[in-house]
Amino acid sequence: MVAQANSPKAGTINATSGGRRLTGERLTRSENMSRIRGKDTGPEMTVRRAVWQAGLRYRLHDKRLPGKPDLVFPRLRTVVFVHGCFWHCHEGCKNSRVPKTRSDWWMNKLAGNKVRDMKASNCLRNMGWDVLVIWECEAANPKRVSDLIGTLLQRSSRSKIHSH
Ligand SMILES: [Zn+2]
Repeated sequence: MVAQANSPKAGTINATSGGRRLTGERLTRSENMSRIRGKDTGPEMTVRRAVWQAGLRYRLHDKRLPGKPDLVFPRLRTVVFVHGCFWHCHEGCKNSRVPKTRSDWWMNKLAGNKVRDMKASNCLRNMGWDVLVIWECEAANPKRVSDLIGTLLQRSSRSKIHSH
């Protein structure tokens, strides 16, 4: 077990082809697990790729934080959630219609998700984090994604001035 974990090749298989810049993106064990749970969905990957290309570095799905935010920027004290429109009830969005069959059950379930999201956001804000949300349908819009990156870059340059 220990020898395996210390093996220099562990988890780096995908990193070699793309050169040094990719090493931070290599799959961790928890990332593999989250992929199995279907967390690394298309919209999230779109956002992650764009953020990475902008030179911003992040942690993924940090379990230590309320709501397990999708992207965590510790230095910026900022988290980003990439929310699926259906599961997180994007209001007024065509992707978030409640299914016609068993609609009561769905309404209950989805309302529960919404409450959980709000609790997590409140908790994070109380801990001093800024919470940004990008919706699945927005992630498909390059303008919206570049707005998000603009916000993050602005914070990044500000935090560089204030630290060293
Ligand atoms: Zn939406």
